[in-house]
Amino acid sequence: MTPGATPRENAVVPVDEILVGGGWRRGSGEELAVTDPTDGRIIARVHGASVADVDEAVHRGSMAARSGDWRDLLPAQRARYLHAIADRIEGAAEHLAQLQTLNTGKALAETRALVASAAGTFRYFGSVLETVEDVVTPPRGDYLTMSVHEPIGVVGAITPWNSPIASDAQKLAPALAAGNAVLLKPAAWTPLVALALARLIEEAGVPTGLVSVLPGRGEAIGDAIVRHPGVGKVSFTGGTETGRAIGRIAAEKIMPVSLELGGKSPTIVCEDADIDRSVAGVLFGIFSSSGQSCIAGSRLFVHASRYETVVERVVDGASKLRVGPGTDSGTQVGPLVTAEHRDRVARYVELARAEGGTVRCGGRAPADPALAAGSYYLPTVIDGLPHSARVCQEEIFGPVLVALAFTDEDDLVRQANDSAYGLACGLWTEDYRRAWRLARRIEAGTVWINTYKRLSIATPFGGMKHSGIGREKGVQGIRAYMRQKSLYWGLAEELLPWAAD
Ligand code: NAD
Repeated sequence: MTPGATPRENAVVPVDEILVGGGWRRGSGEELAVTDPTDGRIIARVHGASVADVDEAVHRGSMAARSGDWRDLLPAQRARYLHAIADRIEGAAEHLAQLQTLNTGKALAETRALVASAAGTFRYFGSVLETVEDVVTPPRGDYLTMSVHEPIGVVGAITPWNSPIASDAQKLAPALAAGNAVLLKPAAWTPLVALALARLIEEAGVPTGLVSVLPGRGEAIGDAIVRHPGVGKVSFTGGTETGRAIGRIAAEKIMPVSLELGGKSPTIVCEDADIDRSVAGVLFGIFSSSGQSCIAGSRLFVHASRYETVVERVVDGASKLRVGPGTDSGTQVGPLVTAEHRDRVARYVELARAEGGTVRCGGRAPADPALAAGSYYLPTVIDGLPHSARVCQEEIFGPVLVALAFTDEDDLVRQANDSAYGLACGLWTEDYRRAWRLARRIEAGTVWINTYKRLSIATPFGGMKHSGIGREKGVQGIRAYMRQKSLYWGLAEELLPWAAD
């Protein structure tokens, strides 16, 4: 950090090199233009990986994973690498946060928290690795049985653009802890943080070839990773349609996949909810990260008796949120990741208007000329539509909230579960019995009761229905990157039956 330098100067952009099987070099694939969403300017050009680079990374990764220098390490020895990576992330925290804000537009307070969580993820899986146990299973004969877990080999980790360092760490840390090599493919719009992270992993002394970072377009490089016969597992976070395509290929290969996909999460204000708390929670749940969050609470359900009061308060709060560059300390809602994505969000709002919805606030880019060049969009609240409307059913992935009323619990559960997705849910009520009933009836991988978007690395995370398959985080998170094996140790003195005549 240089005192007095602008955030853009402080966020030192990595040079145009990618990490292929232990070597830094210019990628031999397509050039990616990386932009700053506050003004659309190109901040870096990164030559992505080619299919040949993927092949080389798999080959070198496979050798590194099989080498005794990695595979045979004692848990405490391997854990040391994870802690060393965490130390380096913490040492470079401000740089990583600035870089992520520069590339994604997210508020600095948020990218700082994401960087801290990434370091915590490496520490957590270092600790899990040291404490996770294999088991001796109960004897059923004159033999002893054990269930042990082994590394898969080479794992593909494919991540989206919305929270780069956190989603990268969530895959890298357990996959490395489990003893694998990893090919990380960041999203084409946001490769910079993953490349900066790779430098730190290298500095931490992780064996050469074990980690590759292969930016590129999903349909080319992501696809090449998924299809490669040397890749034994893919952990994917991204959109549902992409997840479906990856799942099909995995089915052909008979390869395990974890899919963390999209969401359209309900955020529910019951008739007895604390209004101040619930309105604050609803606003944070949808408008933080400018709504570009898989767990965004994008469908607001309010009990009919309080509908107008709550929606008016939400509209008032949304209208007052401070929209601006992520580097301004007061900013609550930064720009969307690219102009292309902002235009997609805007098209959904036009669709809502065309279908007869009422845009209660927002519904356009900000009028401030200082923000005109950026991909900003105002926090938007829409109501007056039936739950079957497309904006109530499809993931918009932007600062757009649709509000709906419900009459009783059955009506609420029917509407809330009338979704292809099942990622998260927020529940605002002072009645713990009601909270228990509803939390169990709503189809969602995570339910927050009188809070929202709180996430612990120790708590499993994942979706139901079209929101995904598998769970990340938690002690069991490391198991997703291991293969289970059963061992039988014969203890009998006699020969097995057929040999004894
Ligand atoms: P995306 O599906 O377009 O891309 C995600 C990643 O997959 C990128 O790296 C992309 O290059 C790659 N990819 C694209 N096509 C591919 C293909 N055919 N084969 C292999 N890889 C391919 O998603 P996005 O627009 O980057 O991210 C937004 C989506 O991610 C939203 O739907 C959001 O809900 C979801 N998301 C989910 C979670 C979760 O934990 N459930 C977290 C964050 C984001």
